[in-house]
Amino acid sequence: MAGTTQFEPRKMKFYGLRDIESLPQLRKLPEERRFAMRVVANVLPMRANNYVVEDLIDWNRVPDDPIFNLTFMQQGMLSPERFERMAEAVRGGDAERIKRTAGELRLEMNPHPAGQMTANVPVMDESLVQGVQHKYRETCLVFPSAGQTCHAYCTFCFRWPQFVGMDDLKFATDESLRFQEYIKRHTEITDILFTGGDPMVMGINNLRAYIEPLLGPGFEHIETIRIGTKSVSYWPYRYVTDRDADEILRLFERIVGSGRHLAIMGHYNHHVELSTDIAREAVRRIRRTGAQIRCQSPLIRHINDDPQVWAAMWQTQVRLGMIPYYMFIERNTGAKAYFEVPLVRAYEIFRQAYGKVSGLARTVRGPSMSALPGKIAMEGVAEIHGEKVFVLRFIQGRNGDWVKRAFFAKFDEHAAWLTDLKPAFGAKEFFYEAELRQLLEDKQKSLETADSVGD
Ligand SMILES: *Cc1c(COP(=O)(O)O)cnc(C)c1O
Ligand code: SF4
Repeated sequence: MAGTTQFEPRKMKFYGLRDIESLPQLRKLPEERRFAMRVVANVLPMRANNYVVEDLIDWNRVPDDPIFNLTFMQQGMLSPERFERMAEAVRGGDAERIKRTAGELRLEMNPHPAGQMTANVPVMDESLVQGVQHKYRETCLVFPSAGQTCHAYCTFCFRWPQFVGMDDLKFATDESLRFQEYIKRHTEITDILFTGGDPMVMGINNLRAYIEPLLGPGFEHIETIRIGTKSVSYWPYRYVTDRDADEILRLFERIVGSGRHLAIMGHYNHHVELSTDIAREAVRRIRRTGAQIRCQSPLIRHINDDPQVWAAMWQTQVRLGMIPYYMFIERNTGAKAYFEVPLVRAYEIFRQAYGKVSGLARTVRGPSMSALPGKIAMEGVAEIHGEKVFVLRFIQGRNGDWVKRAFFAKFDEHAAWLTDLKPAFGAKEFFYEAELRQLLEDKQKSLETADSVGD
């Protein structure tokens, strides 16, 4: 093909806690920094790979390098008190004590907000449908059991409990694949979103087993298949030189050939992730199958809390034929205090970045909170009758009727999440709260009558 470089296959190597003292790039860091990294990595899962370490991180910019902060643990991720507890254990060197302390700290830091575990899991024939979340009418999330890990772990990821084996993959599909029957019966569903972890860690046979049935009889109502993935960033070889790369692209072509839209929901945090030849080749190959790549990322302190970074990222995406889609506010991550950006600042970063790019990049929405009632965008700060307020708006709602509705919260420069906000203008609660309580109550009742399969 004209203008294409030959790419050599690359063998993936993972780096974790055990490699902190031996990885040559880390050996160059001060001893205390490696120690701090070991302390944190004994609590939260750490995984980088050879592509991320050798091609994405600019080691001359460490410790400020964004990709370094994206994949390697930082001391600030634990509160000083928790850090000290773990540091003591690590200094002592007693494996049992390290393990016990890790367990205690993880329990204290578990980010799963109450209700989140089951409020979105549907019930069919009086039992839970494992591995499915169905919160918004049109879109059903599927968590394949074989896709619950990633090519590297993001330091801010709220799914870390499953990576350390804490929550037993409660979200993942079971062997019966009952999710297919559920989707078949629910003809209001138009979009299936495979997510994880990262479904693209699965080999071609698993991918086929999950996706191909949806192209057959009974699934005519499915219009779009989405795959949420960070693989295009963390391991682009997946689409270029990995052994089953070509078969994956053929599968993508078959989805498109079935008359459906295939949307790769690419997780990108920084434009550096789109700067290598192999990353661009992966994008080119995916797009050639007829799939679109839509891009989303949370806004994270120490990684991308800068309007220049977002503007450059969106522009690069548009240039490569990708579509900017969402900027998220990071939810409770476990290391929230370290990564958190207040809502006012998130809005300012979004506004400034948005103002720098052409209309083609303004397909992006946000900054958005994926919260219990729905996806809520921080639309701005306004002064109404002398009261300074936040303007918020539903992008998605647990009740479809809430979508597009605006509402107001008291201005609060420290607020970083919906639950930090108070209604403006003396209202007792936000307009949706009574209905939300009712919806969750009804859901709870249906869960109680269901025999909890797999529990
Ligand atoms: C974000 C999200 C979706 C998809 O919403 P879109 O706005 O259609 O991209 C679906 N389900 C859940 C639970 C989500 O958080
Ligand atoms: S790729 Fe996604 S699921 Fe995996 S660690 Fe990063 S944020 Fe978490």
